[in-house]
Amino acid sequence: MQTRILRLDPQNPDPVAMDEAVRLLRSGQLVAFPTETVYGLGANALDATAVAAIYTAKGRPSHNPLIVHVADISQARELVTHWSSQADMLARHFWPGPLTIVLVRAPGKLPDIVTAGSPTVALRVPDSPIALALIQAADIPVAAPSANTSNLTSPTRAEHVMKHLQGRIPLILDGGPAKGGIESTVLDLSGIQPAILRPGLISREEIEAVIGPVSMPSHIAHVENDVTPAPLPSPGLMRRHYAPHAPLTMLPSDQTLDTILSLADKNPTQRIGWLRIQTNDRPPPPLSTDQLIIVEMPTTPRAYAAKIYDILHELDQANLDQIFVDAPPSDDPAWHAVRDRLLRAAQ
Ligand code: AMP
Ligand code: MG
Repeated sequence: MQTRILRLDPQNPDPVAMDEAVRLLRSGQLVAFPTETVYGLGANALDATAVAAIYTAKGRPSHNPLIVHVADISQARELVTHWSSQADMLARHFWPGPLTIVLVRAPGKLPDIVTAGSPTVALRVPDSPIALALIQAADIPVAAPSANTSNLTSPTRAEHVMKHLQGRIPLILDGGPAKGGIESTVLDLSGIQPAILRPGLISREEIEAVIGPVSMPSHIAHVENDVTPAPLPSPGLMRRHYAPHAPLTMLPSDQTLDTILSLADKNPTQRIGWLRIQTNDRPPPPLSTDQLIIVEMPTTPRAYAAKIYDILHELDQANLDQIFVDAPPSDDPAWHAVRDRLLRAAQ
């Protein structure tokens, strides 16, 4: 199968150019498209065969459920048994946007494969004119995980999707770089207490400002403290995820340089990458650019999130043997989602 890339204006996509994408989706085929988090791989969520093709194209384990993307609150309501007042407040506050809400699914609407057999469904309205225009014109809910091979780094550009899925899907809509850079926050509202299942671009504090206390399961809280997470209760929250090809190690920033120097000393032919958090007080290490590639990382969590996958894709091209990362601050909840992704990339 040949994979075409169709370039669109991300703010104002030409509806005629989108016709082909709509036709493909409606006929059960896969289309990759940009969202404000990362690029998604979409299929008609009402069509079990189309959704099965997502799992095949990504090599995704069938127990990992998909997020269903909808155009608005009314489309979301149709897919659940009870649209709660908390769901409504959060949706009105954060949608379109990077908050995924998990609720009990309505019987008989979605095929089991979308939710991996779970009685709940994950829903989100993406904040991307291309994604919204596509969902609206196709007039169907669109199941879409990130458009990459399972467990590898999520795509933030059409070229990353091409690298992973060339020949496996017919069309990629190219809307330029995804600005959020990491995935949505997944919030479970199907139980007694709202619970974050996956930290993401919207923080726990932002959610709590709208609906009050939200729990963070202990395996995610542990991530903050660099303790190896216990086995995860939710099937989709794999420990090794988002990983580049070269092994990645996160270290306290005052240990990274010494570790790199001792490794380079033992094995001078190793090619090392260093994602350094900018500080002014460090001298340049005495290594050649063949031995060490230094990437200066942003010092704010939003800017860091927007760049991290992009940089990991770039470093993949550089064929490194090892990547070291300065750990972002562990005591600041604003860094929570970035630290979560780095720890999962490291496992
Ligand atoms: P991705 O599609 O790669 O962004 O991953 C989707 C995330 O949402 C995974 O972590 C899934 O486990 C999670 N997810 C999707 N549907 C559900 C659900 N029904 N219940 C719990 N988690 C879900
Ligand atoms: Mg993914």
